[in-house]
Amino acid sequence: MRFLILLVTIAYFALAAASFDYVIVGGGATGLALAVRLSEDSSKSVVVLEAGGTGFGNVNITNLRLSRSNFGTPEDWQFVAVPQTHGGNRVQAQAQGRVLGGGSAINSGMYTRGNEIEYDALETLGAKGWNWKSMFAAVKKSERFFPPSTPDVQVLNVTFDPAFHGIAGPVALSLQALNISRLFPAVVVPTLRALGFEMNFDSNGGRHNGPSWNYLTVLPDTSTRSHAVSGYYLPVASPLDNPGGSKVATLNGANIILSASTLNTPKILELSGVGDPNVLRSIGIDVQIDLQGVGANLCNQPMSTGTSFLMRNGTVDVGNAIRSAILDFLSRSLRS
Ligand SMILES: Cc1cc2nc3c(=O)[nH]c(=O)nc-3n(C[C@H](O)[C@H](O)[C@H](O)COP(=O)(O)OP(=O)(O)OC[C@H]3O[C@@H](n4cnc5c(N)ncnc54)[C@H](O)[C@@H]3O)c2cc1C
Repeated sequence: MRFLILLVTIAYFALAAASFDYVIVGGGATGLALAVRLSEDSSKSVVVLEAGGTGFGNVNITNLRLSRSNFGTPEDWQFVAVPQTHGGNRVQAQAQGRVLGGGSAINSGMYTRGNEIEYDALETLGAKGWNWKSMFAAVKKSERFFPPSTPDVQVLNVTFDPAFHGIAGPVALSLQALNISRLFPAVVVPTLRALGFEMNFDSNGGRHNGPSWNYLTVLPDTSTRSHAVSGYYLPVASPLDNPGGSKVATLNGANIILSASTLNTPKILELSGVGDPNVLRSIGIDVQIDLQGVGANLCNQPMSTGTSFLMRNGTVDVGNAIRSAILDFLSRSLRS
């Protein structure tokens, strides 16, 4: 029997005293996965604190195609960057999930794995046991791979290596190729082949060179999002779990796990007095622990929707060739 309690929208709760083995702050991708795994030990009690709502019944979450409709809503923390000096002082929005499932509830559902060299570098940098071999085994364990359908394989010539995939985990992966765009099989793949690019048989094995097929975290039977809620939480949710909340004044935890995302976790640490003393003092927070890396060294992935081409010397304008092929295809599609 599991002892897993979920408190959502914690800001609205007046809490009565309770002690737990694990208090997990943030019921997002990491928090829910950890909570469910830790609660497999029936002798341990786990509580998850989530600032957002449950998101239950929200079609913008379940339908991956509507994921961007969550931006600017209560399901999004609605962060903004400071004015960007090199971007005409524009202020950029930074969407972050504020709902059970966190980013996994509002993201684009694109599934990619890192390169084996990157994972091995983690161990070289000191994270003992974190290497390609151990991570590959872990991601396969978390995966429920739905092999591409026969039409996808036949029409698109999709290739995949079953050895790179798990079939019994909570994260569902499927190829949503044929029903997304006819442009892909009709133009993109033949063009890449004609240009001599060797397709990558399956990029889920730690090597990424060459174009390959990208899977989405979508359950193929219902075409709905597979995320931390559907994959981890709901299968084990019981009446004990309490999205309605209980009345507790003080919360004690033998272990506190902060999984409130890259942006919110350092904020919680800093508000608790853990961080760079210069930053903390500048905003009137007493320093409890001098830990200068907190809130520093953020790396983010800029998004670009453009495509660029590196031209070989002496060749024709490949850009124009592709542009005309696409325009031709689109015109024919519009006529048909
Ligand atoms: C718009 C968008 C698109 C993305 N697209 C993709 C994609 O296509 N493929 C991909 O692999 N990844 C994608 N990502 C990234 C992916 O979603 C994140 O890497 C992942 O969700 C991070 O997991 P996490 O547990 O660290 O944080 P999150 O999943 O963000 O979870 C953090 C949780 O903590 C809660 N929280 C925060 N502060 C508090 C607090 N003080 N008290 C209580 N709870 C709190 C939040 O509400 C949230 O639910 C995308 C992310 C975004 C935002």
